[in-house]
Amino acid sequence: MIYLDHNATTPISPEVLEAMMPYLTTEWGNPSSSYKFGAKLKSVIETARAQVAELIGAHPLEIVFTSCATESNNTAIHAALKANPGKGHVITSMVEHSSVLNYCAALASYDGYRVTYLPVDREGLLKLADLEKAITDDTAIVSLMWANNETGVLFPVKEIAEICRSRGVLYHCDAVQAAGKVETDLRKVQADYLSLTGHKFHAPKGVGALIVRRKTPVSPLIHGGHQERNLRGGTESVPLIVGMGKAAELARKYLPDYEKKVRPLRDALEEGILSTIPNTELNGHKTQRLANTSNITFHGIESEALLILLDQEGICASSGSACLADSDEPSHVVKAMKPESAASRQMIRFSLDTAVQARDIAASVSCLQRAVTALRD
Ligand code: PLP
Repeated sequence: MIYLDHNATTPISPEVLEAMMPYLTTEWGNPSSSYKFGAKLKSVIETARAQVAELIGAHPLEIVFTSCATESNNTAIHAALKANPGKGHVITSMVEHSSVLNYCAALASYDGYRVTYLPVDREGLLKLADLEKAITDDTAIVSLMWANNETGVLFPVKEIAEICRSRGVLYHCDAVQAAGKVETDLRKVQADYLSLTGHKFHAPKGVGALIVRRKTPVSPLIHGGHQERNLRGGTESVPLIVGMGKAAELARKYLPDYEKKVRPLRDALEEGILSTIPNTELNGHKTQRLANTSNITFHGIESEALLILLDQEGICASSGSACLADSDEPSHVVKAMKPESAASRQMIRFSLDTAVQARDIAASVSCLQRAVTALRD
């Protein structure tokens, strides 16, 4: 198998699994119990909290563990709206993940909120002037992602945060695809809320985090016990939290080398495709983009047909977000960038990681050449 879909999910790293093992076997207590067998696990959770905090330059007490980034994204927007009962306007972009877009759609249809979806240009970039114009006295929260999951395009999060701060509006940043791939330091980017999920950086699925900066309003979406300082009810999954903590520690350790390792492979794949397969087109800004992601339109070929041929040769890639893979809809991200063209139905996302080898890239390019020729014939 050649796995080129790391923006969908990543394998659990061996060190992460090793760190989790005691909590999947012998140390299975409930951290809320009063006896030592359970209660000692509280400190294990606190260690993981500190590891996640280190990855993003936050204080451990600013971290709330959740089940996934979908929950983190929903919770952040919910908390901001709860704290601003008199305000009825939310700003996001047309290219956010479905966990933001569909939550906003639900807010608009059930609760009467007005939602502004900021556009992007043909390269997937956002205009700060559009954000400035969209903010009104009625705006409760701005939710704009750090890096796009389909194209890897990076939004100017530092400037977005500054604009929100100067206009007195809360800013939530979905940093799911950025963590471990670019520096994500909240001391430099003044976001109020930030979402992460473990499975995008070699932790298991089923654990995420919402970072809520000090003095930022927060209220739970999931009510229950007093876990996570009353901010997220439900017995903590100690093994998953430990896994996310360890993965965050490793992501931080490997970050300085990440781009150096991944970019040449991604560039080789991209150039191999664009220079040898006719009628192909890059979607996304050439440089303002994650080093691991390449989103390419193969004109005249339906994404699904090409993905099937790739799969037959053991190559895993995708036609956009894994969360929407079973829908017939074209990519909403590429559609927002190039509304007039069929590019959104004819694109493939390749997302790499440091484990990908140069020979995987060469094999993928030649498989794509054969598959595209066969489909076009
Ligand atoms: N946000 C972005 C940008 C994503 O890419 C994803 C997952 O693909 C999510 C949110 C949702 O993450 P989770 O699967 O942990 O809910």
